[in-house]
Amino acid sequence: MKQTAMLAALVAGLIARGVFAQGLVSIDEQIADGGIATQEIGDGLYVFYFASGGNLLVSIGDQGVLIVDDHFTDSVPVYQAKIRELGGGGIDFVVNTHWHYDHTEGNQILGPQGAWMVSQANSRDMMTKANIINVVVRPNVNQAAYDTVALPVATFNDAMQLHFNGERIDLLHFGPAHTTGDAAVILRGHNVVHLGDVFNTSGFPFIDADNGGDIDGVIRFCEAVLLEINQDTVVVPGHGRVAGYAELRDYVAMLTTVRDRVAALIAEGATLDEVLAARTTAEWEDSLGDPIRLIDRAYASLSR
Ligand SMILES: [Zn+2]
Repeated sequence: MKQTAMLAALVAGLIARGVFAQGLVSIDEQIADGGIATQEIGDGLYVFYFASGGNLLVSIGDQGVLIVDDHFTDSVPVYQAKIRELGGGGIDFVVNTHWHYDHTEGNQILGPQGAWMVSQANSRDMMTKANIINVVVRPNVNQAAYDTVALPVATFNDAMQLHFNGERIDLLHFGPAHTTGDAAVILRGHNVVHLGDVFNTSGFPFIDADNGGDIDGVIRFCEAVLLEINQDTVVVPGHGRVAGYAELRDYVAMLTTVRDRVAALIAEGATLDEVLAARTTAEWEDSLGDPIRLIDRAYASLSR
């Protein structure tokens, strides 16, 4: 009996320290199991992963709960329960990294519940109207206009600071990139940045070229972020697992090479099919998969 009690205490301790969440049960297994996985990346700071991507960054502390991005409406009660399990209460602030539905749809639940949403000004403008997103590999996504209660109440153009749960949070915008309204969200105390869909570790990135997204802008945006962070910064992508400074630097190098190859082919008069056939992404396809979305949207971006 005594051994059983000791074992129970040990297990409870491991659960409390997040060992099960981070080590013994993999993130993939957690996602397969419940559709959501959590990874503690700092004191009171978590990444929430979903099968469909759209990673949340969650700060739980003395002043309350701040999340970066808020996924789909269906996910809201699921991650609210997870936040309560981790000792948090209601969600006070939501930072939207950009306006796309898989990063902002939760606004429609959280806004009416009293959360304050913050975004770059162009992203709020996009949320006020209906938009069509050409995602290349699936039918176009029609994103409806949001009601006022689901819109950001505070916006910024180039930079804004929040001060919450004991740290400064810098919201920075470096021009059109994945969309025209991307924000890099840097939690200075934790040395963590959430880059939304400007950065992707699950495959080649998507660029919303029909709505002003720009491959040169993605490269410039990431280069500007590299100057703001350091070798120890944890870099959270919009989709895929967390990474670091070196992975972001390598991503910039990859995109620069692909961009230069595609631009050279366009200058020679190549059609999109000819660019696709030229295998400009060959050396990264083993790790990143099918490049058709990136090449299609890079072609559109560079042909303007
Ligand atoms: Zn996006």
